[in-house]
Amino acid sequence: MPATPAWPPASTPRLHIDQPLEALASIVIGGAQAHYLAGVMRMKVGDPVRLFDNISGEWLAEVVNLGKRELHLNISGKLSERELVPDLWLLTAPIKKGRIDWIIEKACELGVARIVPVLTQRTIVDKINPDRLSAHMIEAAEQCGRTALPELAEMVKLTAMLANWPADRTLIFADEAGGAPMAEAITPGPAAILIGPEGGFTDDERAAIRAHPAARGVSLGPRILRADTAVVAAITLWMAIAGDWR
Ligand code: SAH
Repeated sequence: MPATPAWPPASTPRLHIDQPLEALASIVIGGAQAHYLAGVMRMKVGDPVRLFDNISGEWLAEVVNLGKRELHLNISGKLSERELVPDLWLLTAPIKKGRIDWIIEKACELGVARIVPVLTQRTIVDKINPDRLSAHMIEAAEQCGRTALPELAEMVKLTAMLANWPADRTLIFADEAGGAPMAEAITPGPAAILIGPEGGFTDDERAAIRAHPAARGVSLGPRILRADTAVVAAITLWMAIAGDWR
């Protein structure tokens, strides 16, 4: 565990910046981020801000000038390198707005490396809004201290996903019909957790997933969980056993 620096204070605002920070000595913040810093957080000249770019780690900056719609920050030094994220993907069927946003937020906080929306036969929602989901992911990363954003993959059909599955990645299939406990399903190395939609998987889908050489069926207990609960429960178990919570 790296030591937490005494400065800046923990409550210092953190912002994801969509450009490389490594070579920058200063930066101008506009738009919604400027509104957040000036209007919501009431930042003043001299106040610290933490910035991360998903490439070079986290940087300490200081407000040097406040305009009407923008803030000028000087970047004073590096706080930390970009983190190493456990190699866990979340494969989740898109579910209705609100709930998929919640899933994305929680998966980011819990520490997944990549989120893949998967279309299944009983998926009710067949479109996602990548911009909205990315915004939720970035907000979660800002809040929880991540310096690496999860990658949000394009939506893929379950059949195509299984056909193109990387051989070295264990496919942990959360099967409400039963399976091994998570602790017995985990093997060392890259992994992915697959959670179905509200209506679950069809029998055909379950058979196809279970027949896949990379797949391990796991149970999340004797009760049927909602998809969003199952996501959090499965990631939590994996992180505690094989991830970076140890
Ligand atoms: N088919 C169910 C609901 C599916 S729950 C029904 O309609 O009654 C949504 C998803 O959460 C499932 O597809 C599965 O991936 C996961 N899930 C829920 N409860 C689970 C459990 N007890 N064990 C393993 N996975 C579970």
